[in-house]
Amino acid sequence: MKITFPHFGNTHLAAKALFDGLGIECIIPPFNNNEAMELGSKFSPEEMCLPYKIMMGNYFQSIELGADTIILTGSCGPCRFGEYCELQINALKKMGHDLSFIVIDSPFDIGKKEFINRLAKISNNSSVSNFQKIRAVKISYRVIELIEKIESKVHYLAGFEINKGDFKRLLKECTVKAAKASSPSQMVNVLKEYKNKINRIPINRHKSPVKIAIVGEIYTVIEPFSNLYIEDKLMDYGVSTIRMLTPIWWIKDALLTPFKLNSLNLRKASREYLPYYIGGHARECIGEVLLAEKENFDGAIQIFPMGCMPEIVSKAILTAISNDKDFPIMTLIVDEMTGEAGYITRIEAFVDMLERRKNNVLYGS
Ligand code: SF4
Repeated sequence: MKITFPHFGNTHLAAKALFDGLGIECIIPPFNNNEAMELGSKFSPEEMCLPYKIMMGNYFQSIELGADTIILTGSCGPCRFGEYCELQINALKKMGHDLSFIVIDSPFDIGKKEFINRLAKISNNSSVSNFQKIRAVKISYRVIELIEKIESKVHYLAGFEINKGDFKRLLKECTVKAAKASSPSQMVNVLKEYKNKINRIPINRHKSPVKIAIVGEIYTVIEPFSNLYIEDKLMDYGVSTIRMLTPIWWIKDALLTPFKLNSLNLRKASREYLPYYIGGHARECIGEVLLAEKENFDGAIQIFPMGCMPEIVSKAILTAISNDKDFPIMTLIVDEMTGEAGYITRIEAFVDMLERRKNNVLYGS
């Protein structure tokens, strides 16, 4: 069994830790790139959203490297994501690829028995003891937890750095070193080391950087290639960013949804403008913006793929929020045709406007 999976931010580190711990060979697709997107787009329905196309590109590139089993996540939710796995499985089968598919879906949607059956397809291919299997899962969770903490600290503190580029360099170095770790526990050690290193980077606590919340469709905000590395760009501009949607948030949200205990803060915050679940993460997007406004952020950037229905609805609501609360929000819509130059110009203009607004408030000019 040679397992592969689509890229989704830094989750490849946790997946590597998991499969190394289970003693199962895993093939990490090359980092998302134009070739993957072109390949994926070529074999996807034109009107399909961008994440679907990039994921298909990942599968093709992994298949070339010898992958024979694809792990993908499913969803019974009301947006196109719910159809991804069926469509992707059918498309790859029609192309003649002889692959096994393991669709990980919420046990509350597919039933506990079916969920265990699907996990058993992976576990049965592992020759390690049950104790080691549990350990592998725990370490993998620890990996994703650590990398998320590092990412969020680095993205926020970049606005306060004294030496330009320190935090960006640290994050890059950290992910490269973690990926090269010789064992899952060594990976955890690398991540712990870099988490501590963050505290040694000099910052100016008296700075008042522009603070922006990154909101929108979950895949697009988490996977840097799909958003043209917006968080990196904002670090270059000395902007502090926060992003609430992360892989761990997604796991917790899926586990707590059946008990209606998921994302209580976001659901409460969104109630005034969007009290219903309309698919995707539209409700969360509204909640995040309203929380950011309350927490005195300077603005928000919404990112979503062309044709994403839930986010089109949130975009309309965000316009009302922006007017009502005098809170600047910029929307970036991405697809395979998005040109970097125009994209950067818009981001720079938005940051510039936020800086001027902030200075006007601070110095009353
Ligand atoms: S949330 Fe939007 S982009 Fe994501 S799968 Fe649904 S429709 Fe597509």
